[in-house]
Amino acid sequence: MPYAYDDENIFAKILRGDIPNKTVLETEHSLAFEDIYAQAPVHVLVIPKGKYVCYDHFALEASDAEIVDFTRAIGEVCRKMGVQPGEGGNGFRAISNAGEDAVQEVPHLHVHILGGRPLGRMLQKA
Ligand code: 5GP
Repeated sequence: MPYAYDDENIFAKILRGDIPNKTVLETEHSLAFEDIYAQAPVHVLVIPKGKYVCYDHFALEASDAEIVDFTRAIGEVCRKMGVQPGEGGNGFRAISNAGEDAVQEVPHLHVHILGGRPLGRMLQKA
């Protein structure tokens, strides 16, 4: 089934400049900004500027340039936020929720970058 993109989702509004954001990094094809309800000292959302619902949508339809830009933007954000373990940081977790079981609230692809404190194991038992 093809992915249907909702132009009224909150990140589309951020990309249009209708809603303010605390930008961490902007590149040709990507934007990174602070999560409004931070769950760790570092909580940044990295999104592609293109209209992609989730990671699979992006992987299927994004151009090589968009994919390279987005991938490198994630690494750059971690460096900027001081959590890149290869550069003296204590590490980070990258999460991308897709669909109902993962409780994806905003239907525009985003990767959460979390860090700045010990994060524990990835999942609690349900
Ligand atoms: P999801 O559950 O879809 O993976 O995560 C969506 C994230 O977007 C949540 O962590 C939530 O706090 C964040 N968020 C929702 N609305 C806004 C907003 O208007 N601005 C910012 N910066 N983050 C938002």
